[in-house]
Amino acid sequence: MKLSADSLAPPSHPIARLPEEWVAHVRDWGEPAYRGKQIFDWIHRQGVLDPDEMSNLPKTLRARLKEEGVGWPIEVVSAHESADRTRKLLVGMPDGERVETVLIPQLDDDRVVTQCISSQVGCAMGCVFCASGVAGLKRQMTDAEIVAQVLLGRRELGPERRVRNVVFMGMGEPLHNYAAVARALVLLTHPDGLDLSKRRVTVSTSGLVNQIDQLGRDFAGQVQLAISLHAVRDEDRSKIMPVNRKYGLEDLTDALRRYPLSKRQRITIEYTLIEGVNDSVRDAKEMVALLRGIPVKVNLIPMNPISASDLRAPDSSHVTRFQEELTRRGLSVFIRKTRGDDVAAACGQLAFHGESRRSPREHAEG
Ligand code: SAH
Ligand code: SF4
Repeated sequence: MKLSADSLAPPSHPIARLPEEWVAHVRDWGEPAYRGKQIFDWIHRQGVLDPDEMSNLPKTLRARLKEEGVGWPIEVVSAHESADRTRKLLVGMPDGERVETVLIPQLDDDRVVTQCISSQVGCAMGCVFCASGVAGLKRQMTDAEIVAQVLLGRRELGPERRVRNVVFMGMGEPLHNYAAVARALVLLTHPDGLDLSKRRVTVSTSGLVNQIDQLGRDFAGQVQLAISLHAVRDEDRSKIMPVNRKYGLEDLTDALRRYPLSKRQRITIEYTLIEGVNDSVRDAKEMVALLRGIPVKVNLIPMNPISASDLRAPDSSHVTRFQEELTRRGLSVFIRKTRGDDVAAACGQLAFHGESRRSPREHAEG
């Protein structure tokens, strides 16, 4: 990892400090360096954010931390568990804004969990098939709010289960909140803290080319990159993803060609299948040509319904046929099973508080 405290934007909140920043901070208070490391350990390794519970610290230091505002920057407002055990947490922030984070247990071992986190309240990118996009951007999330979702997730799971993968696929466009996301990535993968494997942290983007380059430079290709492609001709992509008017497919694929990857690493291509929009044999053929020479794996996601749009997924036999068209031409392709859609926790269904606890499909059925 190339980023250090010096090259990151300053933390927004004490819990977003790195160990070296804690050390410098407590030194100003006349405390020895190891106290700073202990505080980081409590917060990021043990998940204890209340200074009263930091039992190996002197009382005076605990009081100071409290005074400074050390504590949870977010809270769980409600939790909903889906029939497939996917658990959606509605997260509240101090100004009353809400986002969602989703805990998705592995199908064959539910102690191992992938957590999907949000990076913004809403999203400015305006993709027409996405509930966050339709809602627009309300505000950025801070570095502390982003990381605390994982600390909360871990607390929800208890000691027997663990978050192994983190994906920035909740609400928001992570690369449109680069500074906060970069610090969050450093914290999530910090060896003295949560210590997530870098390859198991995925940043998903609609294709902000300059920030993809920046991510490549800052993290030397260590973070897993996912690109929301969703269409293979500029004309079509611009219709469903306004970001394409700024960074077209040629710009985007050029950025992917220069993105640094480690050995055997591949870029994930997300492709939400929408009936009649991007699911033809021609689309499959052109996708293969477009991605030629880029190490990728493709995830097909049948579109989850949202209340603001009539767009929908093709039927499942069509999805399988689309997959075959791609695999026949040499791509590795997975169909991502929809998880948590009965509690509106599936991709693209995450919207503001109260928009829908039930999926739009259920609403439609009354
Ligand atoms: N803003 C980022 C990450 C959040 S969205 C991005 O767009 O990549 C996470 C994934 O869900 C993206 O691939 C997005 O395109 C997809 N998605 C959005 N709405 C969806 C929907 N209604 N059905 C299926 N996938 C959707
Ligand atoms: Fe934003 Fe991603 Fe939704 Fe597009 S798909 S509106 S970029 S969250």
